[in-house]
Amino acid sequence: MGTKTAAILLTACLLLSACTAAKPESAATSNNQTSATSDTSDNTDKGQGVASSPTNSSEQAGSNHGNYSTVQTSPQTGKTVADSNEATNSTATANVNKTYHLDNAYNVAPNQQGAEKKVVLLTFDDGPKEAIMINKIIDILDKHKAKAIFFVNGYRVKEHPELLKLIHDRGQPIGNHSWDHIVLKNKSEAEVKKQIESVQKIVKNTTGQTPMFFRPPHGAGGHVGRKVAKENGLLYMTWSVGSLDWTMKKNQPNKTDALLKNVTEQLHPGSNILMHELPWTAEALDSLLTRLEQKGYQFVDPQSIEVPAS
Ligand SMILES: [Zn+2]
Repeated sequence: MGTKTAAILLTACLLLSACTAAKPESAATSNNQTSATSDTSDNTDKGQGVASSPTNSSEQAGSNHGNYSTVQTSPQTGKTVADSNEATNSTATANVNKTYHLDNAYNVAPNQQGAEKKVVLLTFDDGPKEAIMINKIIDILDKHKAKAIFFVNGYRVKEHPELLKLIHDRGQPIGNHSWDHIVLKNKSEAEVKKQIESVQKIVKNTTGQTPMFFRPPHGAGGHVGRKVAKENGLLYMTWSVGSLDWTMKKNQPNKTDALLKNVTEQLHPGSNILMHELPWTAEALDSLLTRLEQKGYQFVDPQSIEVPAS
């Protein structure tokens, strides 16, 4: 009996450590990044500051403990979450309490007084691109005991499913960043559905888990983007602090300093920090996370953010 119990505990531990978080993603091409800055009507795509789209509020308010808090109990079967059919719509949120929500400006806010307010949410958009960069970013996240949402594009996942698996297997949560990285806000509902749901599918098929977060390309999802995201049980978000890494050029000097300055100048409790899978961001990350820690910030576990019921 002792052995059996130990085996079950061990399995549970493995599941918790390996599958608690689901996926990463990485950055967009420089073209994508540039266009992100050009589309400013939907929100603060420039990454300066707070997204203030007035139409967001209905989806942000009233969020409750959504249907993503399913606890994975596969220890009985010994199956990994990725193997389990039951895992379909849950993101292996094993026992992570939903202690935070996103406010109307996409900042992370505690649900209850007394919870730690001085937190930031780390996000990396537009991947997955390269194993070297992904590993470098996750090595640094691990060093700082941090989780980040990797918002991926479906077309990149299709090209490199192994990179999506890498992010997932290394315990980082994966978010949906649409299939093609196009501006969704003026597209038909059918097109938006395709852009969002095809990513839900390919991520599920590749990792066994379905994303619970959606970030529209260029921060411009529009009303339809919000609606379709919600219908798919996704928490819609843009960001509240832009690292501006997408505006940087390869031969630009002192990019680490610039990135740190960009983030710290906008930094506030609950900051939802937008970064990308870019070499200079990977390079700057250790310094950035160290700086944030020095300033007394903690890194919020994305899985502790509640997702409104669809
Ligand atoms: Zn993007």
